[in-house]
Amino acid sequence: MNKERIEKYLLTILVIGCSLAFVYLALETKTPNQRPWSGPVEYSSKIDEAMDLLRTRRNKDALAILDKILLSEPKNPDAIWGKAEIFRRAGQYKLAELMFKEVLEIKPDHLPALISLAYLRYTEGNLKAALNLTNQAFILSGSCRQGKALTYVLLGLINSARPFNGGVIARINRSLEIKSYFLRAARLAPELPETHLFLGIFYLEAPFLEGGNLKQAIRELTRAVEIAPEFSEANALLAQAYKKQESTTTRNSQLYRDKRLMMGTFVEVISPELKAGKIVFEEFRRIENLLSRYNTQSEIYQLNRSGYLKVSPETFFVIKKSKEFWLASKGAFDITTGPLIDLWGFGKGRNRVPGKEEITKTLKLIGSDKIILQDIDSVVQLKIPGMKLDLGGVAKGYALDCAAKKLREAGIKSCLINAGGQVYCLGGRPAQPWRIAIKAAQGNVIAGYLDLKNKCVATSGGYERYFTKDKKNYPHIFDPLTGYPADSGVISVTVIAEDGLTADALATAIFVLGKDKGEALSRQFNNVRARIIEDTRVQNN
Ligand code: ADP
Ligand code: MG
Repeated sequence: MNKERIEKYLLTILVIGCSLAFVYLALETKTPNQRPWSGPVEYSSKIDEAMDLLRTRRNKDALAILDKILLSEPKNPDAIWGKAEIFRRAGQYKLAELMFKEVLEIKPDHLPALISLAYLRYTEGNLKAALNLTNQAFILSGSCRQGKALTYVLLGLINSARPFNGGVIARINRSLEIKSYFLRAARLAPELPETHLFLGIFYLEAPFLEGGNLKQAIRELTRAVEIAPEFSEANALLAQAYKKQESTTTRNSQLYRDKRLMMGTFVEVISPELKAGKIVFEEFRRIENLLSRYNTQSEIYQLNRSGYLKVSPETFFVIKKSKEFWLASKGAFDITTGPLIDLWGFGKGRNRVPGKEEITKTLKLIGSDKIILQDIDSVVQLKIPGMKLDLGGVAKGYALDCAAKKLREAGIKSCLINAGGQVYCLGGRPAQPWRIAIKAAQGNVIAGYLDLKNKCVATSGGYERYFTKDKKNYPHIFDPLTGYPADSGVISVTVIAEDGLTADALATAIFVLGKDKGEALSRQFNNVRARIIEDTRVQNN
């Protein structure tokens, strides 16, 4: 066990202890062991009510009553103590101290004032004086349960703060001794929120204790907050405990990362399951071999060559789906853009700006209405010779869906797949959703975050792949109606959907359509959200 940790722990108790409070307990001496601390309380007097409000940290209400009492009885020691205690809680130590002393002048054996003063001394770091006053309070408390409990708390605190030079064993003993004080206090007066608070702090910070202490810390702090919902220290510590718990869970569950260059981009897999990477890469390879028009073995390559092919049900499905998106987007999403992509030199070869005539000629080959689909036998026919399908706008999305399906079949519940900025979130990461950062269009800046579970996010942006000629940028997404790279004023589109294919196709379509039409398109689909960023320079023109 290292020395630094225990010192930090002792220091934490000291610092947090400084902001804590004690409640009045003399009343209990008057009516020992009868007081109902939970359930409906019938107060025998106004001061009784104020003390209960103080116990549960409703300081404002307590103050109103105390002020009234002091108007008619300015020397009432209990009322002065109560008001001083509120000042102390507010950090007005000097004023509080003067008033505690005033109480002790009126009534030298005023137990709450003694305890409060001992606590103030401890706060100042005057441990000797604190211990002296605590000893006095301990003797005075006699059969007063709450008084005893609070002196135990003080003994725990003072022991925590005492300098210590012993070895490891001695440190453990010291730690256990401190724990026993806080435990005794909480057992003796469970209705006092501070007893749970200190025990909670102990469990939160104690370095020598058995593993499950974070759970116990949360339990104790929760009890403190239940008793006194406005107890700000207890609330803050409870939040801290939850945060700590969260980070321990994430740390304990290791995530495996793997990355491969596939489908012209990096495919990254993050999962608590080691085998997830292999499953995903195999599926991406399979889809690439099926849908890439540059792979001479693929069905799409052969279809583009012959214009007529009986394809696999999968390829048929993707082409059919693509045609549906072509229809929904009124031609903005179109997998027949192959010849245009080639003309502008995006496929293979060099980028160039073609002439108007070439573009008009090529446009004759474009349009998904020219794809004939025969459902019965999965035959695909391209109506005009020279037509070429390019599935670059959906293939990655579809591959993500296939990979997710395979992962689910293998019983994997948590995995993130990032295919060049298009991300599929299977389940969440352990104990929380996957957090996806959205990159801003310019610079290496994060524009925002998304917390996702079982969703796919696709981003299409002209800033990812483009070429520049005469100071103009030409992105790799085309407007199939004009034959020119899309120029809708959109810098980037992020689409969140339930499946990869939909997200991918819609992101590409919206990039072509622009903000207004794009938003209208996304609204046609259930469970689809789109975030469209426009180029303000274009807008201002
Ligand atoms: P990325 O591949 O960078 O994720 P997209 O998903 O938007 O980007 O797909 C762009 C690809 O889609 C292009 O490289 C091209 O292969 C193809 N494509 C270009 N314009 C269109 C279009 N209007 N409709 C369908 N696919 C397109
Ligand atoms: Mg796309």
